[in-house]
Amino acid sequence: MKKKVDKNATRKPNDAPKEIVLNGLGVSPGIIIGPVYIREQGTIDVSEHTINPEDIEKECSRLGDAVERARRQMARLRNKTKNMPATAADELCFLVDAYEQMLRDSRLIRGAEKRIADRLMNAEAAVQAEISDIAAAFAAMEDVYIAKRIDDIREVGRRLILNLTRTPVKPFAAVPPGSIVISDELTPADTAQLNPERVIGAAAELGGAEGHTAIMVRALGLPSVLGVTDLMRNIKSGDTVLIDGTVGRVVINPEKKTLSVAIHQQKEYLKQAGRLERMRDLPAITRDDIELELQANVELPIEMTMVKQAGAAGVGLLRTEFLFMGREDVPDEEEQYAQLSQIVKAANGPVTIRTVDIGGEKPAEALLKGMGTKATSALGLRGIRLSLAQPKILETQFCAILRAACHGNVRILLPMVSSTSEMHRARAHLKKAITKLKRRKVVLPDPIPPVGCMIEVPGAALAADALAQVSDFFAIGSNDLTMYTLAIDRGNEYVAELFDPLHPAVLRLIQFASEAGRRMGIPVSICGEMAGDPRYTALLLGLGFRELSMSARSIPRVKQRIREMDMTAASRRAGLIMDQVDSGRIATLLDDFNGLA
Ligand code: PEP
Ligand code: MG
Repeated sequence: MKKKVDKNATRKPNDAPKEIVLNGLGVSPGIIIGPVYIREQGTIDVSEHTINPEDIEKECSRLGDAVERARRQMARLRNKTKNMPATAADELCFLVDAYEQMLRDSRLIRGAEKRIADRLMNAEAAVQAEISDIAAAFAAMEDVYIAKRIDDIREVGRRLILNLTRTPVKPFAAVPPGSIVISDELTPADTAQLNPERVIGAAAELGGAEGHTAIMVRALGLPSVLGVTDLMRNIKSGDTVLIDGTVGRVVINPEKKTLSVAIHQQKEYLKQAGRLERMRDLPAITRDDIELELQANVELPIEMTMVKQAGAAGVGLLRTEFLFMGREDVPDEEEQYAQLSQIVKAANGPVTIRTVDIGGEKPAEALLKGMGTKATSALGLRGIRLSLAQPKILETQFCAILRAACHGNVRILLPMVSSTSEMHRARAHLKKAITKLKRRKVVLPDPIPPVGCMIEVPGAALAADALAQVSDFFAIGSNDLTMYTLAIDRGNEYVAELFDPLHPAVLRLIQFASEAGRRMGIPVSICGEMAGDPRYTALLLGLGFRELSMSARSIPRVKQRIREMDMTAASRRAGLIMDQVDSGRIATLLDDFNGLA
């Protein structure tokens, strides 16, 4: 259900700021206090400035040029429909008609011109302001058809702004340093653009604790709360906000007393983080001398510094979505190679590079061209399915990975695999990539990297014995495995409470798949969020896992847990847990063990 945005509903602009406490899902720990930067969904961050009165005509003509360019873009889009299946072509033509209509003498264009002339606004800011006003007026009508039109108007506005700036506008480029980003929704692509040197925390109305947005804010170390009901209607520009990402609390305009408690807690948190830093050079070894390998999950290249600081034994999961998100074109081999090889060189150990996992809640315009979101939904063309549907892109990615593999120890991992035939088909494309590189006389890595399979679809877990025969290693993705097994959308705040990796169905699939892999003699790691939560460490070790990959920031905490644990006791407890049928009982057995050992 889409929430209505009405920032003035509960507070009038001149009221003295009153403390408002809102609760949500604490998805990235830590406490932070700062000024808010409000970002409404679908808007682009544009700079705003006052123009000289003599430049009004020039500014209006800049806007006119942008409109003209948008019309030509629409004409090109209409042309493309000729090669499309009829239903897709009809759908697109309908949209193009609507967009063209808006680019004629619409309220959007007239309103923007008026703002330039009357308020001396630059054209980008005028378009942006007009869109906000139209969206607010439409939202007040509470009509489903009209609500859909808001997105269309935003799309036209976005196109105009891009045409005006002529360069892709980076989201959050205008965020003042030290701000806390507040939004109705932060997509994973938005989050990838948050610069931790400017942004110190975030909160949003939508989002679950296990979605990619949550994973990314954790990776960036930004204290954040998602799923905060009524956030947007209670907050306005100029407010100060306190984000407690540990307990999931947002306090708007905190009172003195609240602030002093928070500052005390903040100091404690930082002290604890300092203590954990000392774990860095210690081995991840249990009390009975079993040594484990703790690797890092990486979503963005900027994390590599943290990976080193955390003392990770390499990268156990490199999510390559960052290469494709937030842009309209597909990165070529050179660009991918440059980014991947840098990461391989920077990693202190092996790097498992996963081919791109777009689809579901991780859309990337570059790969979705011409396809609606339905085609790439969570149950649609996601992960390896989308790559196999666009083999040229997959082969280009393989070429880039193979070249990067000349700089270190690399493994290739395939996401969202559900059948052995997908493994075979992907391997065939890898072969083609090798042939292409050979023809170009490019040096190949020796040996060719092993190819592994993510176990994150329940069907793959149940067919793990078959998949193990065609895979060089397994990486268990407990996030999607939990989502698909329990039919719970991992990024949906409404069902976040139900997301339970301790459900016996999930644990049995993990156990079955990991044992199948080990029986075949292939390495088996786990890289879902479970691996980075010390609550689950004893259970995972007890189930036989010796390779865990997690957000670099989680490594010290998990290492600390490992160092105080006895493997024999953990295995016994895991055995007892796997005999249970109730997740409540499982949780009690696990938490008791954690309290004891
Ligand atoms: C998983 O599903 O557990 C996983 C590691 O992959 P991602 O979170 O990128 O979907
Ligand atoms: Mg996954």
